[in-house]
Amino acid sequence: MFSVNELAERVTAVSQRIAQAAERAGRDPDTITLVAVTKTWPAEVVLAAYEAGMCQFGENRAEELAEKRTAVELALGKDNGVVWHQIGTLQSRKTALAADHADVFHALDRLKIARRLSERRVETQKTPLPVFLEVNISGEASKSGWDMREWETNATQRDNLRIAAETVAELPGLKLHGLMTMAPWTAAETEIRTVFRRTRALGLWLEPIVGQSLSFSMGMTDDFEIAVEEGATHVRVGRAIFGSRRKL
Ligand SMILES: *Cc1c(COP(=O)(O)O)cnc(C)c1O
Repeated sequence: MFSVNELAERVTAVSQRIAQAAERAGRDPDTITLVAVTKTWPAEVVLAAYEAGMCQFGENRAEELAEKRTAVELALGKDNGVVWHQIGTLQSRKTALAADHADVFHALDRLKIARRLSERRVETQKTPLPVFLEVNISGEASKSGWDMREWETNATQRDNLRIAAETVAELPGLKLHGLMTMAPWTAAETEIRTVFRRTRALGLWLEPIVGQSLSFSMGMTDDFEIAVEEGATHVRVGRAIFGSRRKL
């Protein structure tokens, strides 16, 4: 489907664009994790990407993550250095799958999910699951996450997120890692930039409250350079590496 060389070239190109964006913002590119989004691609593609040097993979569906992880571990053994990122929101009946198979969860959008994940994680895994709280900054109805569309002026919105962060920080099976957001679908660059900038500002507001530094998962194929300029620590990139997704 892909040659290892072809994938290595694509990922080098994306990494260079990340490094250049980081440089423009005066940031160290080594502080940015490129998550290769392999959704819809079979495990063989993940294995080719691994051979090409990638080891951070993102899936938006928990079943697909669990299946691919199992296939990759069959081929490479369990101790393979791969980090699996669950990047899509979870339904509550899928929390066990994510708690058992994901290494990082980017799209926590409800405390009910947090409690279920934590409970299961403690039962089946030795380490807590790092989670990003998803925030909806743009206000688009199609977006998940805590409604933060006017957080700067709305104390209720800030309180909701503070309570969520404090709750997650205290759950034994979870570890608060940061904030995640999605840019509006068809917006102008300035609008996208504003969403990322406001997400980072929200995180900087939250940091002293929770007493820890936070990471920022933001940016996809069409906007990861803007995200890096605005402080992303994790970019989730699919099409720029693998091309258009396969129809399932
Ligand atoms: C699919 C997906 C991505 C990657 O999208 P591309 O446009 O292919 O880079 C990132 N984040 C989430 C949550 C996704 O579902």
